[in-house]
This record gives sequence, C-alpha cells and structure tokens, in this order.
Amino acid sequence: MSARPVYSIVAPVYNEAGNLRRFYDEVVAALDSTGETWELLFVDDGSSDGSMEIMLGLAAADSRLSVIGLARNFGHQIAVTAGVDYARGQAVILIDADLQDPPAVIPRLIEKWKEGFHVVYAVRSERRGESIWKRLSAKLFYRLIHRITDIDIPVDTGDFRLMDEQVAQVLRQMREHHRFVRGMTSWVGFKQTGVEYAREQRYWGVTKYPLRKMIAFALDAVTSFSFFPLQIMIYVSFVLASASLVVGAVVAILRLARGEAFFGGQATTIVLLLLLSSFQLFFLFIIGQYVARTYNESRDRPLYVVASTIGLESARAPTQRAPVALAGERQAPEGGAEGTRNDGV
Ligand code: UDP
Ligand code: MG
Repeated sequence: MSARPVYSIVAPVYNEAGNLRRFYDEVVAALDSTGETWELLFVDDGSSDGSMEIMLGLAAADSRLSVIGLARNFGHQIAVTAGVDYARGQAVILIDADLQDPPAVIPRLIEKWKEGFHVVYAVRSERRGESIWKRLSAKLFYRLIHRITDIDIPVDTGDFRLMDEQVAQVLRQMREHHRFVRGMTSWVGFKQTGVEYAREQRYWGVTKYPLRKMIAFALDAVTSFSFFPLQIMIYVSFVLASASLVVGAVVAILRLARGEAFFGGQATTIVLLLLLSSFQLFFLFIIGQYVARTYNESRDRPLYVVASTIGLESARAPTQRAPVALAGERQAPEGGAEGTRNDGV
C-alpha cells in the first residue's frame, strides 16, 4: 500500500467531460506548489458523456489520481460522501469539478489548516456569471437555513472546503441518506473558519442543479437540521384559534346588542373552507416530508453502489475500513455497497 498522502482532493463528476482536463491541470498546479503529497479522487456519479474515459486516461498517466465509479447517478451529496469514504489524506478537500471553485484557492485553505483549524470553508464573496435568479435564490436559501437551523451553518458557503481527518472520520460515521454535507461538517464542531473567494463561472457545460433538484436539496437541508417547520404549526393554530374567538365574540355582540343575525354568505364559508384546507394540506406535506425521510433512513440501504474503482487498492474500500468506534457505540455501518471491482491501473 502506498504511503498516505497529506491531502485528498475529492471531486464529484457528473457529465463534466469538457472540464476534467483543465480541472486536473489546475489541481496539479495548486497542489504541487505545496511541496507535499496528495491524491485526487474523482467520483464518477453516473456520467454518460465520456467523462469516465477522460478520467481513465488521466489516471493511467498519474498514479496520484483515482476514480470511483458509482453504479448510477446518486446525486452530488452522495458522490461527495463516497469520495470522503475513500480518502486517506490528513486533510480532505471537497471541490466541484466544473472549475467554479478555483483549485488555486486550495493553498489558502491549507494555510488555515496549518494554523490549526479543523474545517476551513470557502465563502463566496462574489458569484460570477450566474443568473440573477440563481444568485437571489441562493442568497435567500443560505439566510433561511442560517436562521432556522439549530447549528451555525455559515452563509454563502458551498461544499468547497477543507476538513481535517478527524472531521472526515466523524463524517464517515454519519450515514444519513438525506445529506446536507456543508451542514454536517458544521455540526461536527472543532475549530472552523472561512476564507473568501470569488466563485467563478462554470468553465464548460451546464448546471446539474435545475429548480426541482434545488428544492429537494433545500428540503433536505431544512429537515436534516431543523424542526422549525413542524413547530410553526402550533403558532398557526394559535392564530386561527384567536381569530375564531374574536369572530365568535363579534358575532355574539352584534346579535345581543342589535339583534342582527350575522352568518355571512355562502361565498365566505367556501373561501374560508378552502383557505383552511390549504393550511392543513400544507402541514400534511411538511409532516410527510419528515415521515418519508424517517422511512427512508429506517430501510438502512447502502448510501451508494460502487461499480468500479481505478487506482485504488482493494484494502481501501470503505467496506473494509476499520471504523473508529466511539465508546459505547456500535461499529459504524458500511460506507456503500460494492459491485464488481475493476482495478484498472
Ligand atoms: N454533480 C454530481 N452529481 C449530480 C449533480 C452534480 O456529482 O447529480 C457534481 C457536478 O459534476 C459538479 C458538482 O457536483 O462537479 C456541482 O454541480 P453543479 O456545478 O451542477 O452545481 P452548481 O454549481 O450549479 O450549484
Ligand atoms: Mg457548478
């Protein structure tokens, strides 16, 4: 088994054919400037645009590069998780493969790590080349999450970050399916700090986060770290109960004082009925979100399925990883399931 590298770079890849070579070159330039050892782990999240062939080509020429091929598209957060599971470095760096997170920022993250921080997240001080809509929704999203979650998740940070192996080891034990990785690294604690950077335009290709996925992602973020949506129901019920008391009193007073019968029209009744049922359905939806997640977690399926690995020794599979057992806890479950192995290099 080759010596453990100091740094592990984990990059999830889903149809990034036009970005990979340049991304690789920039990572090499940034990491070689440190003068320390490193490995680059590409996690292929079911790409179908020839990304895999390009990664194989790069890996054949550079033994520091490995590829973990997932059996299908499992989603960004799971792909990142698979990479962390396999990473061996003393510090693990998560970075997108589309060059929106410039690899040149990595040495600055490393600097903070050497000062003793366990998590160094990259804060987007500027977002270049993204639509107003994407920027606005992202801004709103980060502020909402910050407000309603129980832990301190810094605003305007993505998954671009460095974490110490201690943090990575805790993350490997967190096997939840609905993952909000940046929140999970905040949850771990230790000493955390941020480094500002300008988020670049995507070098090639289009975002893999259409509106539908962004909503699902936001729901995962909220439900993973907050019970606020469940708790607001009590406030709504107080407001409605108070309103009914006031309306009841007004109706009674009108009746007693003036002898007027106040029943309102049929239209009022229908509108109120629709309004109240919409509240109820909304809250049923919220409860449903938590229930569905509970069900999904209880099935305890592996988080991902690995179809092939290139450049990894089999001893490094997470299924064979010796988990750090916390006192009194059961052993950490397996990272993912493995299909056929294919050590190409
Ligand atoms: N990605 C992935 N699986 C997915 C979607 C995205 O591995 O299902 C990767 C993608 O290749 C990229 C990173 O996750 O390296 C971030 O995705 P993207 O750039 O599309 O998101 P955005 O930056 O637009 O939020
Ligand atoms: Mg991107």
